[in-house]
Amino acid sequence: MAENARENDAIASVPTQLFIGGEWVDTAKKLPVEDPSTGEVLVEIADADPEEAMRALDAADAAQADWARTAPRERSEILSRAYDLLMAEQDRLALIMTLEMGKPLPEAKGEIAYAAEFFRWFAEEAVRIDGGYMTAPAGGAQFMVAKEPVGPCVLITPWNFPMAMGTRKIGPALAAGCTAVIKPASLTPLSTLALVDILVRAGLPKGVVNVVTTSHTDDVMTPIILDPRSRKLSFTGSTPVGKHLLELAAKTVMKTSMELGGNAPFLVFEDADLDVAVEGAMAAKMRNIGQACTAANRILVQRPVAEEFSRRLTERMGQLAMGRGVEDDVVVGPLVNQGAVEKVHELVTDAVERGATVAVGGSPVDREGHFYPATVLTGVPAEADLTSTEIFGPVAAITEFDTEEEAVRMANDTPFGLVSFLFTQDLNRGLRVSHALEAGMVGLNQGVVSNPAAPFGGVKESGLGREGGFTGIDEFLETKYIGVKM
Ligand code: NAP
Repeated sequence: MAENARENDAIASVPTQLFIGGEWVDTAKKLPVEDPSTGEVLVEIADADPEEAMRALDAADAAQADWARTAPRERSEILSRAYDLLMAEQDRLALIMTLEMGKPLPEAKGEIAYAAEFFRWFAEEAVRIDGGYMTAPAGGAQFMVAKEPVGPCVLITPWNFPMAMGTRKIGPALAAGCTAVIKPASLTPLSTLALVDILVRAGLPKGVVNVVTTSHTDDVMTPIILDPRSRKLSFTGSTPVGKHLLELAAKTVMKTSMELGGNAPFLVFEDADLDVAVEGAMAAKMRNIGQACTAANRILVQRPVAEEFSRRLTERMGQLAMGRGVEDDVVVGPLVNQGAVEKVHELVTDAVERGATVAVGGSPVDREGHFYPATVLTGVPAEADLTSTEIFGPVAAITEFDTEEEAVRMANDTPFGLVSFLFTQDLNRGLRVSHALEAGMVGLNQGVVSNPAAPFGGVKESGLGREGGFTGIDEFLETKYIGVKM
C-alpha cells in the first residue's frame, strides 16, 4: 500500500499484467513491487515463467511484417501522440516513478519530460530514414542502398531511469519499423507498464510492443535471446550482465547495443569558475541520488583550488534535505534497496580505512526505508575501492592532482569510458583534455550531458552503440544493398 489516497490512485492506475499481442495477460505467480522509502509493498504484478514470456516473442514476431510495412508517417504519429500523452500525464507518471524507485518528485517529472523527448525525437526521425543510389565505378550496374528494420527486438532496461531507458529504446525501435519485447527491471516495472498503456492509447497496433515482467530473469530471458526470431538486443544495465548477454547474443550473431556501467571522472582545473564547477558537481553527483551511470564517481581537483572546492561542495551537500521523494524540497531520497545502502557504506568505510577524511555524512541513518546521507570524502587515495567501483550513491569522493597530464592519466585509468566531465575557463585546455579523455561523452563545464538529440553511449567496457541523436535509429536498421544490372 502507498501512504495516501493520491499515491494509491497513482499505483491503482497502472496495469499489473503482462502485455502480449495487445492483451493484458495474468500469470499464476506474482512479483511484489516495493516503495524503497518505506520498504512496503506497493502492489503485486505478473511474474512470468519462461513459457508465458515466450508468447511475447511469438506476438512480436507475428506483428513484425505488418509493422515494417506501416507508413513511416503513421509510425511517427503514434510516437507523437504518445509524447503528448506522456507530457499531459507527467504528474501521475512522475508519482508512480517516485513511489517505485525513490527519486525526488521534481527529478521524476524531469525524467518524464526527458523520456517523452525520445518519442518526439524519433517521431521526427521515423520519416527521415534514407538510402542511396549510385552508378558502379566500372559502370554496367546501379547500386541501390535501402535501410530496413532489423526485426523483432529484445529491450532490457535498468531500474535507475525506468521511464527514459524505455522510451530511449522503444522510440527508435518503433520509428525504424521494429516490433519489441521489453523487459523492465524487476525492482521498477510500473513505469514501463504505464508507458505501454500510453502507447496503446496512442494507437499502437497489437503485438508491436509486448511487456514481460519476471523475477526469474535469467530463465525467462535466455530462451528469448537465443531464439533466432529475436534479431536485436538492446540492453542498459551493469557491465557484468552486459558481458553475459553479449556471449548469449554471439550464439545467433544478434545485433546488439550495450549501454553499460560507468566510472566518470570529474576534473576541476585551477582556472575553473568554482561556482560553475560546484554547480556541475552537484548535478553530476546528486542526480538520481547518485544512482546514475553518468554520476561523477571520482572528483579530481587541481591542488591549488582543492580546499576551496571541497569546502563549497561540502557546504552544499550538508544542506540537502533527506526524506521520501514525494516530500517537498527533498533531494536525498532513498537508495533503491538495502543492498545498495550496504554497498555504499562498505565503499565509504574502505576509503576511510585507507586514509580518506569524511567532510560530511558518512554514517548510515536510523530510519525506515533505504537511506544513505549525502557524503563528501576528501583525500581519497587511488587504491580505495570506490575509485574503481561505481559508487551508485550520494558520495562525492575528492582526490587532488598537480598537472594536466596527471589528471588525464588518472581520469583514463579505468576500464570504463562512458562520460567524463571537466571544468576550466581555458578553451584550449578544455578542447585538448576533452579529446584526450577516453569516454563516449564529455561534459565541458557542465555536469549533465544526457539529451535525446545527442548520441549517448560509451567506449571501453561502458558499451557498444549510441542511443538518441542522428545515429540512434541506425541501431535498429539494417543496410541492404541491391545491385541492379544495367
Ligand atoms: P543490472 O543488474 O545489470 O540489470 C539491468 C537489467 O538487466 C534488469 O532489467 C535486469 O533484470 C536485467 N538482467 C539481469 N540479469 C539478466 C540476465 N541474466 N538476462 C537478461 N536480463 C538480465 O543493472 P541495474 O542494477 O538494473 O542498473 C544499474 C546499472 O545500469 C549500473 O551499472 C549503471 O551504470 C547501468 N546503467 C547504464 C546506463 C547507460 O546508458 N550506459 C544507463 C543507466 C544505467 P532484473 O531486474 O530482473 O534483475
